[in-house]
Amino acid sequence: MSTPNRRRTPHLSPPRERPTRWECHCQEPPVLLATYDRSGRVNIKVRDRYWNVASPVHTVCPKCGAEHLLELPQDDGLFSPIP
Ligand SMILES: [Zn+2]
Repeated sequence: MSTPNRRRTPHLSPPRERPTRWECHCQEPPVLLATYDRSGRVNIKVRDRYWNVASPVHTVCPKCGAEHLLELPQDDGLFSPIP
């Protein structure tokens, strides 16, 4: 068994961090629901269009119909007056 030694050359690489996959594990491979990054931005691809929304996001898996809620922690602690 030889391991493929292909270099990971990301095309269309995001300028900052790689987004995290939000997926439903009802099957293999898991169903990708959306992607999100640390800034709390959620990217949802619908056909040929990208939806750029903010958390929390509520969606339904297109495969199994399970409901999913994505609630990202707000990363604006520097500006929040609440202790
Ligand atoms: Zn599912």
